[in-house]
Amino acid sequence: MAEAKYMKYKDPKQPLNTRIKDLMSRMTLEEKIGQMVQIDRTVASAEVMKKYLIGSILSGGGSVPAKQASAETWIEMVNDFQKGCLSTRLGIPMIYGIDAVHGHNNVYKATIFPHNVGLGATRDPELVKRIGAATALEVRATGIPYVFAPCIAVCRDPRWGRCFESYSEDPKVVRAMTEIVPGLQGDLPPGYQKGIPYVAGNKKVAACAKHYVGDGGTTEGINENNTVISRHGLLSIHMGGYYTSIIKGVSTVMISYSSWNGKKMHANQELITGFLKNTLRFRGFVISDWQGIDRITSPPHANYSYSIEAGIKAGIDMIMVPYNYTEFIDGLTYQVKSKIIPMSRIDDAVRRILRVKFVMGLFESPLADHSLVHELGSQVHRELAREAVRKSLVLLKNGEPADKPLLPLPKKAPKILVAGTHADNLGNQCGGWTIEWQGLSGNNLTSGTTILSAIKKTVDPKTEVVYKENPDLSYVKSSKFSYAIVVVGEPPYAETFGDNLNLTIPDPGPSIITNVCGAVKCVVIVISGRPLVIQPYVDQIDALVAAWLPGTEGQGVADVLFGDYGFTGKLSRTWFRTVEQLPMNVGDRHYDPLFPFGFGLTTEPTKA
Ligand code: BGC
Repeated sequence: MAEAKYMKYKDPKQPLNTRIKDLMSRMTLEEKIGQMVQIDRTVASAEVMKKYLIGSILSGGGSVPAKQASAETWIEMVNDFQKGCLSTRLGIPMIYGIDAVHGHNNVYKATIFPHNVGLGATRDPELVKRIGAATALEVRATGIPYVFAPCIAVCRDPRWGRCFESYSEDPKVVRAMTEIVPGLQGDLPPGYQKGIPYVAGNKKVAACAKHYVGDGGTTEGINENNTVISRHGLLSIHMGGYYTSIIKGVSTVMISYSSWNGKKMHANQELITGFLKNTLRFRGFVISDWQGIDRITSPPHANYSYSIEAGIKAGIDMIMVPYNYTEFIDGLTYQVKSKIIPMSRIDDAVRRILRVKFVMGLFESPLADHSLVHELGSQVHRELAREAVRKSLVLLKNGEPADKPLLPLPKKAPKILVAGTHADNLGNQCGGWTIEWQGLSGNNLTSGTTILSAIKKTVDPKTEVVYKENPDLSYVKSSKFSYAIVVVGEPPYAETFGDNLNLTIPDPGPSIITNVCGAVKCVVIVISGRPLVIQPYVDQIDALVAAWLPGTEGQGVADVLFGDYGFTGKLSRTWFRTVEQLPMNVGDRHYDPLFPFGFGLTTEPTKA
């Protein structure tokens, strides 16, 4: 039998740069361009991967194989695509990426953690790091090595539909929460060279800091719009999280759809190549957003060859195409052959992509096995999510100052009322980016504990819990409850669908508050991705809790409500009085909030 030919790039004992150099010296232009292409899993197959030499696949938004697909089904699908790549001449593995933005949220029965706005309120970077580690395990459990997270947007206006993906309006909090990066990827070993991407093996995933840069600063919070700010403002407010992520070895950075002072970020060479790659010395790869280069022109795709040129020249390395990949490949090949785009730019892109693939060990273990399947939605991860929920709750009011505080609630009471559109609704609790891109109201999307069922489990067995989603005033008056818990808030949404100029509590939330709180002592829990207009109701409400988008572990809410744990969360966002005040952020000159940034009452746990 002929001995397989020794090739340096296949030898893990060779230094990283030697492997990259060796592999690149063997690659044709076609093979190089293929590495720069990321396609959607719905158009991928082993044959497509092989024929077009594609370097990456994504599950965009809610692009899942089947809503209730098991971990084994995911592994089989990813491995099947991978085998197409491994059967090519050089056998370069592809990297599969997915939006795991609050746990492995595309996957049925995964643990769904609170969205970032809630994690910001915990002020606990170490907790967020542990969440990163748990997310990495659940993602790897399905055969996937790469996540499009964390979102390190600094949301400066809650009217933005992605505000819940942002840890805070305050850059310091966002910078601190980039501890999720070592959680996802692993801690850098001593002496590791700064700026080089790092992923510590098969139980960790490559992370992606997004969306570079200024996504959270657009005018009126309009998604994908224009961020008008000085260079100093851009650097001091929006850039810090990139700096800390790079120090921690983040593997990839995703470009923002938004513009900075009228220039599309996807075409901004000065900020991508100049600042990110040259000044910050980022050595991982830069990925576009979904059809991000198309959107360099408006309408999108109006002049695709211009978009390709502008995007690649700006410094984007991997393009989320994600469907019309032959058009992209042909267009880029033409531009390189006609010397419109220099070969050195292609080499830079491919070097970065291969660096990530080598560093994370994809060449050594390109195919996933079933050894981590038990991690998906494990009890340990659900406990961690429950802890995160407890720590994310912000207590905004607890009785009138002279009164006895209402919280913690007694577990023993003759009869309590639970009301509201969000009391028994797992989908509402999880928000957008859960199984479906836009999320889904109701209890059918995945497994978890609603706030109502958590309350029932927590109170004394003799306490009668009556649930009425939308009770009228006379019913509440005549029913003689000890107290009521009202849970209202926003329906799920994602991206532009969440842009909202009035930020009122959606109906029938306000009338539920009025009917219940007008007749009985009440706690109102707001489930939302951002502060909502609450000022008109505050006087009627006895106790008020911001619970953000807590995810599948509603038990964390009951843990704190009934005093097994105390309230500790602090607002990561300013709670405005009226939308006319927006944008209003901590440190502004005319700062007159209803509840200021950092506010949060505390309670002591009840002694057992
Ligand atoms: C979003 C990104 C996301 C990508 C892939 C885009 O629409 O802006 O945050 O990672 O889709 O799903």
